[in-house]
Amino acid sequence: MDTVPLSRGDLRWVFPETRDPEAVRGALSEADAHAWSLARYLGVRGGTGGGLVFRRTEGIVAAGLFAATEAEGADFTAGPYFPRRCLWDLRWGPPWEVEAEIVVVCDQVPDCGGHTLAARADTFTTPLEAARGLVEATAWLLERGRAASPASWRSRDDARCREAAP
Ligand SMILES: [Zn+2]
Repeated sequence: MDTVPLSRGDLRWVFPETRDPEAVRGALSEADAHAWSLARYLGVRGGTGGGLVFRRTEGIVAAGLFAATEAEGADFTAGPYFPRRCLWDLRWGPPWEVEAEIVVVCDQVPDCGGHTLAARADTFTTPLEAARGLVEATAWLLERGRAASPASWRSRDDARCREAAP
């Protein structure tokens, strides 16, 4: 799996048929700026930094576009997703589903995979709408990331593991 920053990637990996690539690129840059702001706000450094990235497999059978920031056990992620009927379903959108979520790590052993504390998802029918949806999704993450610290997300009542023994 390769990770490629937005600026060095190819839109067609995620939106093979785009009527207005410049407008899509513009919207994605805006989403990228939100993602960077959140990463900077949370003090995340190194790695891919926190901007939008493409993740793709060799040969590009399937690529994805993600904004992901991890800070002190809290993950803030957003990205378009392609509902597939099965493992071999390699269709792209439409529709594109744009999801965003805030997940905190599980402190139990074994861990249950993490606890989703906030999430949103919208469905779009064109690449441009999906890209604009990603702008909104990353703005939503940024707003929430600024409103409460990662530690306060983790100390919320609903961050406690439901699978843990009482
Ligand atoms: Zn758990």
